[in-house]
Amino acid sequence: MTRKLFVTTALPYANGPFHIGHMMEYIQADTWVRAQRMMGTQVDFVCADDAHGAPIMIAAGKAGKTPQQYVADIAAGRPRYLQGFHIQFDNWHSTDAPENHALAQSIYRSLKANDLIEVRTIEQFFDPDKGMFLPDRFIKGECPKCGAKDQYGDNCEACGAVYQPTELKNPYSALSGATPVLRSSEHFFFKLSDPRCVEFLEAWTQDGRLQAEVANKVREWFTRDEAGNVNLGDWDISRDAPYFGIEIPDAPGKYFYVWLDAPIGYLASLKNLLDRRGVDFEAYMADPEREQIHFIGKDIVTFHTLFWPAMLKFSGRKVPTAVHVHGFLTVNNGEKMSKSRGTGLSPLRYLDLGLNPEWLRYYLCAKLNARVEDIDFNPEDFVQRVNADLVGKYINIASRAAGFLTKRFGGKLTDRIGGAGAELLATLRAQHHTVGALYAEREFAKAVREIMGLADRVNEYVDQNKPWELAKQDGQDAALQEVCSVCIEAFRVLTIYLKPMLPALAARVETFLKVAPLQLADAATALGAHEIGAYEHLMQRVDPKQIDALFEPPAQAVVTTPEAAALPGGEALAETITIDDFVKVDLRVARIEKAEAVEGSTKLLRLTLDVGEGRTRNVFSGIASAYKPEQLQGKLTVVVANLAPRKMKFGVSEGMVLAASHADEKAQPGIFVLEPWLGAQPGMRIR
Ligand SMILES: [Zn+2]
Repeated sequence: MTRKLFVTTALPYANGPFHIGHMMEYIQADTWVRAQRMMGTQVDFVCADDAHGAPIMIAAGKAGKTPQQYVADIAAGRPRYLQGFHIQFDNWHSTDAPENHALAQSIYRSLKANDLIEVRTIEQFFDPDKGMFLPDRFIKGECPKCGAKDQYGDNCEACGAVYQPTELKNPYSALSGATPVLRSSEHFFFKLSDPRCVEFLEAWTQDGRLQAEVANKVREWFTRDEAGNVNLGDWDISRDAPYFGIEIPDAPGKYFYVWLDAPIGYLASLKNLLDRRGVDFEAYMADPEREQIHFIGKDIVTFHTLFWPAMLKFSGRKVPTAVHVHGFLTVNNGEKMSKSRGTGLSPLRYLDLGLNPEWLRYYLCAKLNARVEDIDFNPEDFVQRVNADLVGKYINIASRAAGFLTKRFGGKLTDRIGGAGAELLATLRAQHHTVGALYAEREFAKAVREIMGLADRVNEYVDQNKPWELAKQDGQDAALQEVCSVCIEAFRVLTIYLKPMLPALAARVETFLKVAPLQLADAATALGAHEIGAYEHLMQRVDPKQIDALFEPPAQAVVTTPEAAALPGGEALAETITIDDFVKVDLRVARIEKAEAVEGSTKLLRLTLDVGEGRTRNVFSGIASAYKPEQLQGKLTVVVANLAPRKMKFGVSEGMVLAASHADEKAQPGIFVLEPWLGAQPGMRIR
């Protein structure tokens, strides 16, 4: 029977680009989904941006954008990461999409009809300057316990105390600095304390669908008091306007708290996909064989094992079949890189440096298992595993055998394989159930060990049969062809086993072997007297220098004194600014439509720029010593687009083109105009 799966990864909050923690989760889920598909499972794999909430509304305001524009700009950056690491979602949507508004309101109505929504009046801090209730993170003040200043509304970073924002001494709004006032407001609560919810959740979390360690942790929530009651606590699901979110039906000025509609975004993304396919969403979900599986990090277990299944259950919907929880990724056993605070290993920098994305996929898979363990990225270990195992043990099998087959046998494999070669291949083929099961159980590290163990066996066979010596001996053609055919067949089987982790590499192998896309079951059958194509190098080794470059601290973070180091570019770094200062400078991609010399000036060129505004701008730039006008025409560059227009002797300059130069132009001459990478379009913002 074909398994039918609906699979998601956690929705990333749309207030910033992906960090390596996101990529680890996507690589884990993508690898798992690819393995399932290779076993014939039908999978729909979706995700979406988590677009709502006060932090995004506030960040958008600071950036001078509407929240919609703000999250659209974040979404525009997503494909580069996903394509870059071969992560293949069937759909990427947004929780601000119409499907999510409709589904959230429908689920809420069902919960209300089921008597699980209650309205209560609560007191909260209100910013009188901003005219809004303040989220906990935007209230600061002195810790009620130790008196430390400038602590957040929920916990003290000095003494670790946890408290309510209303307990802070001398509170102030982090948005306006104003002293907040207490105001009462009606809030909507989801009655998780209802005995129906408690009974359902206790059974659902303990019936074996969760990882044992997750189920054990969750069990603590169901501890009974002396009266035999479980107190789950009701969940505040509303926020007051102004709020970027989904309006609560029949409650003007009230919005769903972002965590209410975020997981509903899983369904909205799926519905959007199915609508485009012309498949009925409700019928799809009603299929009893359809499994619903969520991949998440350990930081959001509560939402996915209490609120989310309860919301689904009591709105009459399918509940999750499983929730696969993973740990965090650390680098060098150091910094924690959770969803909320990723640092250290920049995925874009990784790609920009030209590191192979499949090295990272392979490395992370080689460490991932089905438990909620943190895994560590260790640079030396990374180089070792990629170079010694992936390239040394696996890729080399093909490179050692393919040349002889092409040169001596027209690329033809023989189907006359006996003895040790036949035994070796039988051993490899026999593992396809084991490898498939390890993938299905998310035991990727065990799968890698298994596969590399098989690669060792193949290399032993090569060393015992020495094709390079057979090639020099007369009358050994048949033996040479047999040994090389065994190698290629073994390589094909190993490629099948590695394909979920290395999809792009496997596609190149399929071209080289002239075979259809490989499925897991193909490992059980032989290629026979098949003709393969010419071997082209499949994968480079990692140059440790690339890894050094990956972890080099960004230039602006280096603290230098004139005594301690040479000044970068001949001048000391400018004073530190905050991101808020930086976003004031609006840098845009511009196309140089025209460049002309300026009569009466040896320094200036007059540039006519297209900044995507439907008109052109006139900008004077002091680059005449470095560029001839014709060198610049048609090129893209970067312009400070919100610089106040400046009246110059030769006309008005509406912006400034960016160029690099050394502080001492005599010592290090040259002016270098900035040019964005291929694909940038006029008007795109640089951030
Ligand atoms: Zn404190």
